[in-house]
Amino acid sequence: MVKETGFYDMLGVKPSASPEELKKAYRKLALKYHPDKNPTEGEKFKQISQAYEVLSDAKKREVYDRGGEKAIKEGGSGGPSFGSPMDIFDMFFGGGGRIHRERRGKNVVHQLTVSLEDLYNGATRKLAVQKNIICEKCEGRGGRKGVIEVCSLCRGVGVQVRLHHLAPGMVQQISTVCAGCQGQGQRLGHRDRCKACAGRKILRQKKILEVHIDKGMKDGQKIVFHGEGDQEPGLEPGDIIIVLDQRAHPVFTRQREDLIMSMELQLVESLCGFQKPIKTLDNRTLLITSHPGCLP
Ligand SMILES: [Zn+2]
Ligand SMILES: [Zn+2]
Repeated sequence: MVKETGFYDMLGVKPSASPEELKKAYRKLALKYHPDKNPTEGEKFKQISQAYEVLSDAKKREVYDRGGEKAIKEGGSGGPSFGSPMDIFDMFFGGGGRIHRERRGKNVVHQLTVSLEDLYNGATRKLAVQKNIICEKCEGRGGRKGVIEVCSLCRGVGVQVRLHHLAPGMVQQISTVCAGCQGQGQRLGHRDRCKACAGRKILRQKKILEVHIDKGMKDGQKIVFHGEGDQEPGLEPGDIIIVLDQRAHPVFTRQREDLIMSMELQLVESLCGFQKPIKTLDNRTLLITSHPGCLP
C-alpha cells in the first residue's frame, strides 16, 4: 500500500504502474502541457515534471510510496530538490541540454499517433508542423540595412532602470524590460520596418514533414529531423523531434519483439481441439490448430 497517490494521480496512472507506463504517461502529458503548446498551463507542466522526476527514480519512488510528498521534500539535504521542468523535459526527449541551447534554436517536439500495423509494416506519414523561420526579406534584421538605430530610451541595453524613492535617502532601483524596444536594444521606425515580418525578424511557417516509420519501430521512439526546428537570428536552428505514440490495438499487444493475443475459447473447444483463423497485422491469415486434450 502506498501512503498517498497524488503523484500517480498527476500522471493518471495506478500506484502499481510499471516504469514503461510511467514513461508513456509522462510523455503524453508533458507534450500536451508544454509551455510551447499550452502557455497558460505552466503550473501543471511543473507538477507533472516533479511527479515524474520522483516516480521515475526507483529510490525516490520508494521514499514517496512510504512517506508521501512530505518525505520527498524532507529527504536528502533538506528542502525540496526538484529539477527544472524544462531540464526534465529536455532529458526525456533528448533536447540536447543547456550548453547546446545557448548556441542553438529551440528543439520542437511533436507526437505522431500510429497504429500497431504502421509499426509492423512500416509506413510513411505526412505531418504538418508550425515553425519559426528567419524572415528572408530582411535576413532577420527586422528592417532595411542601415536604418536600425540604437534605442534612445535604454541606450541599447534593453533594460530601463527606474528609481523609486521610498523615503528620504532611501532609493529602490527597479529594472524593467525597455518599453521602447521590448528589450531588443534597437528601434525601427514604422516606415523602416520590414513589411514581410513587421519587424519581428521571424515568421511562422507551416511545413509538411514526411515521416518514415521503419518496420519494427517502437512506441515512444524518436525520429529526429536535424536542423528543422525553430530558427532564430544568430543561432543554429534546433531539431524537430517526432515521438511515435502507438494507439492500443484491439487484438494484439506488443511485448518487445513478440505480439501477444488472447483468444476466448469454449470449454468444448479446449477439450476437443479446434481450428481458428487469425488475421495478422500484414493481412495474412494464420490457422491456429489445437489437438484434443492439448490445453489444460
Ligand atoms: Zn523581415
Ligand atoms: Zn530600449
